[in-house]
Amino acid sequence: TQAPETHEFQAEVKQVLDIVVHSLYTDKDIFVRELVSNASDALEKLRHTQLTEKDIFDDNLPLEINLTTDDKAGTITIQDFGIGMTRDELVENLGTIAHSGSKAFLTAIKENGGLNENLIGQFGVGFYSVFMVAKEVKVFTRTWKKDGEGFLWTSDGSGKYTIEPSEGQRRGTKIVITLLDEYKDFAQESRVKDILERYSSFIEFPVNLNGTKVNTTQAVWLKNKNDVSEDEYKEFYKFQAKAFDEPMDWMHFSADAPLAVNALIYIPGSNPELLGFGRTEPGVALHCRKILIDPEPPELLPDWLRFLKGVVDSADLPLNISRESMQDSSLVKRLGEVISKRFIKHLAEVSRKDAEKFEKIWRTFGVFLKEGVATDFTHREKLSELLRFESSETEPGKLTSLQAYVDRMKPEQKAIYFLAGPSRKAIESGPYLEAFKARSLEVIYCLEPIDDFVMQHLRQFKEKDIVSADQDELDLGDATKEAEGEELPKEQLDALCAWLKETLGENRVKEVSAGKRLVDSPALALNADKMMTSHMRRMMKAIAQ
Ligand code: ADP
Ligand code: MG
Repeated sequence: TQAPETHEFQAEVKQVLDIVVHSLYTDKDIFVRELVSNASDALEKLRHTQLTEKDIFDDNLPLEINLTTDDKAGTITIQDFGIGMTRDELVENLGTIAHSGSKAFLTAIKENGGLNENLIGQFGVGFYSVFMVAKEVKVFTRTWKKDGEGFLWTSDGSGKYTIEPSEGQRRGTKIVITLLDEYKDFAQESRVKDILERYSSFIEFPVNLNGTKVNTTQAVWLKNKNDVSEDEYKEFYKFQAKAFDEPMDWMHFSADAPLAVNALIYIPGSNPELLGFGRTEPGVALHCRKILIDPEPPELLPDWLRFLKGVVDSADLPLNISRESMQDSSLVKRLGEVISKRFIKHLAEVSRKDAEKFEKIWRTFGVFLKEGVATDFTHREKLSELLRFESSETEPGKLTSLQAYVDRMKPEQKAIYFLAGPSRKAIESGPYLEAFKARSLEVIYCLEPIDDFVMQHLRQFKEKDIVSADQDELDLGDATKEAEGEELPKEQLDALCAWLKETLGENRVKEVSAGKRLVDSPALALNADKMMTSHMRRMMKAIAQ
């Protein structure tokens, strides 16, 4: 036989290993969950491969996961008859950070200036978590491909691993973990059973522990709503989204027309994009009669719904639909359309029935809904009803909808006005608001950078124009309060304007004129460009620098 070949872990893997081993999880249990979830993924992939490939090694092996414990030897073994790995795949998958999870994790640590409470628990770092408890890990694996071979991957997690050929293997992967002395209790059957019951009861394939099946649950999303408990919903979320937190909310529905669909969609407990984890990948999986077609189909839902987790199952999909053909499948698009509509309707309902919950959702995920208003023409109108802002009529920190604004509009008021700025204080101490206050006109405060773009794209709400309050040529009507003091004679006024225009120069101002807008301030700069608010201009300038 050939001698084992020694490989170094990629530098990033070493970093992850270091964090995992030294500081990451107080909860060591999760390594079982990670490995069982990998085994389940490998079985899903095999089941999918079986739909399109004829030549599969060990084709008649059952699709199941087998765990065995040996408390004398202090070992635990996890075996699946899944897709297995070739030699190259071993190096790629278990020697580098090929998958997005751990990579995002590292980036976030760097951006946040180190590991903090927020980051811990947001992520499962997958396979590498086994080194929290292992003295040594052996991965025996054999690919489904007929012409493949078996390999053994070995490591103690300290910086190197070895790969060697290994004869006589069945298809799939078997991971043998020799536990560190202080974690030997993971080799006790009762301990592992307890963990499996908590984390792995939703696995679609039989999970056997020392020969006895431990999971018996049926697919939650296919069940009747009334038969699913709140706890079951929460547990399924953790399982499906590989999450460690609790969902904020969920929507479970089924329909027969226009398409047969069962969907269970979750709003997660937190927004990783706000925590600096980079762009979220779509997280609603697509199934056909329980069989996973794609865990994160990018074509199913519009981009701005990428924060959602869950499952969509449609019996109308062709089983052997490939990921490529999904891209132009009108069926998949229609499915996504149904889900998006339902979801928006669901949120509208939450906003009516549970204001507190809606506000929580808004504050965490509102930015995605805004993105939807700005980018998704199909859903813009319905989505705009969900928008919330502070305004000159709200207390600091409190929010209003556009509908509530419209309901408060004065009969003669022509438009919905907004001002963009970095903070409420900045807007209220600037000169722009003055004219509106003097006329008791409400102004929406746009405090997030995206708000400006949202307003520019929305343009109208319930047939009222949405107008930036810093535009020139706004006809605001008469002020209820007049400016005090004496008016300048016309010649002096003209001379002053001319002098200002000359002094400021053509590059700065297009025109200087006297107006009725202001009450207390002597002058303000207005925006002649209808397409761009002053705030946007400042942002563009900042970007250009
Ligand atoms: P993730 O599951 O998020 O991709 P992991 O660290 O858990 O990340 O696993 C890394 C990769 O190793 C997986 O994407 C998969 O390609 C491979 N892998 C892990 N366990 C198995 C297994 N039991 N069978 C086949 N491939 C596996
Ligand atoms: Mg994994």
